Amino acid sequence: MKGKQHRRAHGRAQGRSGKDCRPRTADRRLIWFFDLDGTLHDASHAIFAAIDARMTDYVVRHLQVGHEQANQLRLTYWRRYGATLLGLIRHHAVDPHHFLRETHDFDVASLLRAERGLAQLFARLSGRKVLLTNAPQAYAESVLAGIDLARQIGTRYSIESMRVHGTFRPKPSRAMLRHMLARERVARGAAILVEDSAANLKAARAVGYRTVLIGRGGRAGRASYVGLRVRSVRDLPRALARLRG
Ligand SMILES: [Mg+2]
Repeated sequence: MKGKQHRRAHGRAQGRSGKDCRPRTADRRLIWFFDLDGTLHDASHAIFAAIDARMTDYVVRHLQVGHEQANQLRLTYWRRYGATLLGLIRHHAVDPHHFLRETHDFDVASLLRAERGLAQLFARLSGRKVLLTNAPQAYAESVLAGIDLARQIGTRYSIESMRVHGTFRPKPSRAMLRHMLARERVARGAAILVEDSAANLKAARAVGYRTVLIGRGGRAGRASYVGLRVRSVRDLPRALARLRG
């Protein structure tokens, strides 16, 4: 964050009283929807490589194609549908549960890298916290436990629960994002999606979420659908002050 911007944000967060980030009554009705990978922990450190390698191996085994072609298919479906799984279901009738189990079957804890003190930070953050991840449930539970957020994020939606009319609709599906607002009985303007994916934020903004981008986000960082951009979830208490404005 640039100096001037930082001072302005800090000044507003502190308020005239100088007390930082006091919870307000209105904040308690907020519902934070948190992405998992790349948002609550640094998946690019080692976990994404582990998952990608397993997905490519899975495609090699089940579609009987070479390694390079399998890698390309994985990437093509991920770009086209937002999840490799969707392409495999649509074009190759792959069993989603089998695929998710096989591709996330590794020791998550040994590869985790996240910031310290997240549990205390989340306890101080007003509002309810919900997990909304395109990852499978068993993996998501392991990561949450590993970064000490299992108690702070009680409601969890993984890819298995992102179905609309029986079809998988992970992020950035607008239908699914709308469905979540109704399911969680979110008051108008009270939903905030915290994400490292610009495409997911764009969809969420279009259906009424407020949006926080984690990380730099490249050119998307300045897009109109990004309500706020922060370096890490650590900055959220201060971000909350800016979201009020
Ligand atoms: Mg992510």
